[in-house]
Amino acid sequence: MDGLVQIRRRPGASETTPTDKVNRGGARVYVETFGCQMNEADSALIVGQLQRSGYQPVPRPDDADVILINTCAVREKAEERVYGRTSQLLAHRRHNPDLVIGVTGCMAEHLRDKLTTRAPHVQLVAGPDSYRRIGELVDRARAGERAIDVSLDKTETYTGLDGVSQDDGVSAFVTIQRGCDKFCTFCVVPYTRGRERGVAPREVLRQVRQSAAAGYREVVLLGQTVNSYRYEGVSFADLLRATAEIDGIERIRFTSPYPIDFSDAVIEALAHEPKLCPYVHLPVQSGSDRMLTAMKRGYSRGEFMRLVTKLRHAVPDIALSTDVMVGFCGETEADHAETLSLLQEVQFDSAFMFAYSDREITYASRKLVDDVPPEIKQRRLREVIERQEHYTRQSHDRRVGQIETVLINGPSKRNDCLVGRTGRFQNVLLPLDAGASGDLVARRITRSSGHSLDTR
Ligand code: SF4
Repeated sequence: MDGLVQIRRRPGASETTPTDKVNRGGARVYVETFGCQMNEADSALIVGQLQRSGYQPVPRPDDADVILINTCAVREKAEERVYGRTSQLLAHRRHNPDLVIGVTGCMAEHLRDKLTTRAPHVQLVAGPDSYRRIGELVDRARAGERAIDVSLDKTETYTGLDGVSQDDGVSAFVTIQRGCDKFCTFCVVPYTRGRERGVAPREVLRQVRQSAAAGYREVVLLGQTVNSYRYEGVSFADLLRATAEIDGIERIRFTSPYPIDFSDAVIEALAHEPKLCPYVHLPVQSGSDRMLTAMKRGYSRGEFMRLVTKLRHAVPDIALSTDVMVGFCGETEADHAETLSLLQEVQFDSAFMFAYSDREITYASRKLVDDVPPEIKQRRLREVIERQEHYTRQSHDRRVGQIETVLINGPSKRNDCLVGRTGRFQNVLLPLDAGASGDLVARRITRSSGHSLDTR
């Protein structure tokens, strides 16, 4: 997947660079994000880079001259939604005929030419390692070229580039690692984001300090397998401890760790460093050893369970969430029953649950058979959701009556209360006079639902 920059020009395009013809002054750009927090962080990077190139970020697509959709290719559904969204956005060309629509991120990398065939109105396609050049690519698209740059770069970590976030100003995302080396058989990430590389600790800490200076209270360290981070002898545990020393940052989270890469040193840091939140997202995917082997996850159910026990022993009140995928190639009813029994055994506090969808270029797509019929996948998905919702509800109910420290993120969408989170990553509703964004307040939980805790 690694390669060289490729900028395609229309046959016969002039020698003058299109950039010469583009007047960036005041051109407005809107970036919409699909997918995970890493994509959110990348969108901030794109906006920052475009702003430095003379573009003006706007919060709504209606006002934009350039609309970029920063995409995810991990699931088929997300891909279909992106296609739908690019078609919807075409309506904006009625009042702005020069509007440029572009696609960035994993889907751009994954689909490349197919994307422009199926969505011919997309004039810019930029993969996750092209954002340093995004200003130039947008210039070219605005000058009438089809700008495509999907090259991967073994070394790109975007060191030195600052993002412009459109977040709540309370929780900052800092990417500490890009790419992935694990090659789980169902996953496109190693192909769309390239091989794993860590961001230098000095750069990570610079960004955390900068976030603290900008008023952020929480930092979320991001990586595809964040706990396998290592940079010239600096381990993930070292980085966590160094981050915790930065004044102004009161809470530290990280996502997503890879179960077998959890070192004792990280568990020790979780147990003893008060700024580290008692919450870990631990993607299990399946409770069946047969499926874990087919997925090439690198651990057995027993090893996963030993890690859960270790974490709960070290941090008794820790909250655990997970990812579960049903209907992977060859999954039988017995395998599915193993997943249900694992959910029962662990009783995660929350989970993201999906049905497997075949992703081109992965090992599973090339070598395994996607043989679980869609209706069975959907039935199994309903069963895991139903089971997990029960445990999520119980996890919320257990907090009722307790005093929790809540970090206030800001007003709710309807502006009728404040919303915040506990250290265990549970959503909390608070009265409007409970404090200001960024405040840490102690509140007694009075009620709970399947989705949130209430202090009103
Ligand atoms: S660890 Fe596996 S599932 Fe996660 S990004 Fe890497 S290849 Fe994909």
